[in-house]
Amino acid sequence: MPSLEEKLNQSDAFLIGVELVSTRGTTADVSSVKAIKFGSDLAQSDRIDWVSITDNAGGNPMLAPAALGKPIMDAGKEVIIHLSCKDFNRNSIESQAWQLASEGFKNILTLTGDFPEDGINGMAKPVFDTDSVGLLTMLESMNKGLTISRGGSRKTIQLGGTDFYPGAVVTNFKLHENEVIPQYLKLEKKIECGAKFIINQIGYDSRKNHELIAYFKRKNLEHIPLVGNVYVLTGTVAKIFRSQRIPGIVVSDELLELSLEKAAAPDKGKSFFYELAAKQIAIYKGLGYKAAYLGGVHTLKGIERILDIYDSFGENDWKEFAKEILFSRPGEFFLLDEDPETKLANPDKLNPVYEASLVDPEATSNVNFSFRLSRFIHDLMFDQGKGLAKIGAKLCKNSADPSQGPKLLRTFEHISKSLMFECKDCGDCSLPETAFLCPESQCAKNQRNGPCGGTRDGKCEVHDFECIWGKAYDRMKYLGKDSELLAHSPVIQDQRLRGTSSWANSWLGKDHIAKRLNKKSESSTG
Ligand code: SF4
Repeated sequence: MPSLEEKLNQSDAFLIGVELVSTRGTTADVSSVKAIKFGSDLAQSDRIDWVSITDNAGGNPMLAPAALGKPIMDAGKEVIIHLSCKDFNRNSIESQAWQLASEGFKNILTLTGDFPEDGINGMAKPVFDTDSVGLLTMLESMNKGLTISRGGSRKTIQLGGTDFYPGAVVTNFKLHENEVIPQYLKLEKKIECGAKFIINQIGYDSRKNHELIAYFKRKNLEHIPLVGNVYVLTGTVAKIFRSQRIPGIVVSDELLELSLEKAAAPDKGKSFFYELAAKQIAIYKGLGYKAAYLGGVHTLKGIERILDIYDSFGENDWKEFAKEILFSRPGEFFLLDEDPETKLANPDKLNPVYEASLVDPEATSNVNFSFRLSRFIHDLMFDQGKGLAKIGAKLCKNSADPSQGPKLLRTFEHISKSLMFECKDCGDCSLPETAFLCPESQCAKNQRNGPCGGTRDGKCEVHDFECIWGKAYDRMKYLGKDSELLAHSPVIQDQRLRGTSSWANSWLGKDHIAKRLNKKSESSTG
């Protein structure tokens, strides 16, 4: 049987994947038994190319996806295991990855993950030691074969490479420019760091779906298979999605109204919602996506009913369907202009308002005095090997504890950074890469490689303030450097530096920025 990788890359067939949501409890519990039965039905169906199994979906604890995935894989069906960073640190993720590789799982959907919700005796502590970009970097290293040393020994051991086929998610159904563009930049970063296939987030707007594949073409990313997400609505699900309780998923007021109207029918709108899903599959195929990924249906019968409707469509019907399924929100940002005839994106023309804004970028309230001052001071103090940075390195080297530097300077650093950035003393500072917004104190998930997918109309998924990456985008755009927003990634923070002086670590070449600069100068001189 060809693998998912082979099918996505070597065949012209349009593929169908189905989501299996993991359940809470052992495999003997009623809900798990149902999920296992659904998985087994999917494994037997020739119409399904793979089954994708969620990892603690919505931030709730569930049975590990491999437990549901193993029997499906053993039955000969391709399985995608979702692996997120919310509940595990990098070591635990690595253990999980070894276990998955040992059991024969190859297809991994890398995710930063939703913020944790309930757990036993209260909410769990969120981990986010790394993120989707960091995770892709880890899997790429494991595929190449890690070189490790044990217990400070100089001897190294070369581990055999794994054979992971990692994918990632992109979410472009966002409202504001400073959400959409950073998501596109992060998409590129994920591909650069090893994502081999991309699944888009749930949304109901053909123009945004077209814009995404047009973006792939503009960036020469057509070799990366794009999978279109289709979540089958009900009236209740539409209400939940409209409330934005599920981070990153959007239903417009217009679609909610239509869904509630249809849900009032005797079949609770099932025939309408199934047809809507079938039309979305047809649109994805027509637009050039490689596959559709169906969620929200929990029986094979339901899946087959949708696929029967889809099979009944003519080859070009999708063009009319695309004009029907255009549920964007008022004022929503599009990177590309609208094609007046198709109502989709014009692949060759940028949104003219956006294009004009690049010429003379606006100084929004995010481009404030604190930002300008921080840049000025940073340039003055941290030009490695020169001026104040040279003096700072000398002072730290000669101090009693070089990782803290001279006491007075350390106190000054602590007070000034706490006041300006709510610094948490992580010791591995990312401020110059995040346009001087601290990911430790101002980002609920400590995202150093770009925004998570959870913003709600510009606001953080977790807290009621503007996402730091939206603010950082505004600042970078003002400087004419918006395309460089994520040029620094991937960053995987060094936890060994926690509690030490970030100034000393920068001057002495110990933090990730200094190490990267040193590497760069070594490679350019050598
Ligand atoms: S600040 Fe932005 S990136 Fe951080 S958790 Fe909130 S929405 Fe996600």
